[in-house]
Amino acid sequence: MKIGVLALQGAVAEHVRMIEQAGAEGVVIKKVEQLQEIDGIIIPGGESTTIGKLMHTYGFIDELRQFAAAGKGIFGTCAGLIVLATEIAGQTQPHLGLMDMKVQRNAFGRQRESFEADLQVKDLDHTVRAVFIRAPLILEVSDQVEIVSEFEGQIVAARQGKLLAASFHPELTDDIGMHRYFVDMLNDK
Ligand code: GLN
Repeated sequence: MKIGVLALQGAVAEHVRMIEQAGAEGVVIKKVEQLQEIDGIIIPGGESTTIGKLMHTYGFIDELRQFAAAGKGIFGTCAGLIVLATEIAGQTQPHLGLMDMKVQRNAFGRQRESFEADLQVKDLDHTVRAVFIRAPLILEVSDQVEIVSEFEGQIVAARQGKLLAASFHPELTDDIGMHRYFVDMLNDK
């Protein structure tokens, strides 16, 4: 199993390291041609407007839509979650629009710009350590989307088929729970 990390912006090396710890091969993805060789891809955190524009410039928007249509997996974390959503509250920036949900950028206000929490995750028997950095929230999901984790009653992770989204950064701790979740998902577990 090969999992790519989209290397346009954000923490790439950390995700590659965790993919490998979760038992798959990690590949740094800089060009659309490389999508042929991988089974799934992680879109890391960063700034969603910048990532969306770069994805558009380098041809990733259409190619990743085809990638998803071919049944391959995409895991968007933080800004990556935002670009996966069909609707970004109050914005029309370039994005993939693949997961049937409405998201709110920078949803945690000032005091909570950055914090950590231990989250319950559906189907995992242990909690996952999560780092939130100017994190988005999932405001609404359609019945196609399964809620995977909540923090204080609000949705912070969700899944639709082979698409996974998390508000937080799972790569900034030693906890490989979410990466393993994605690898298992791609293995149809
Ligand atoms: N606040 C960023 C945005 O709206 C996301 C932050 C992150 O990825 N850590 O794009």
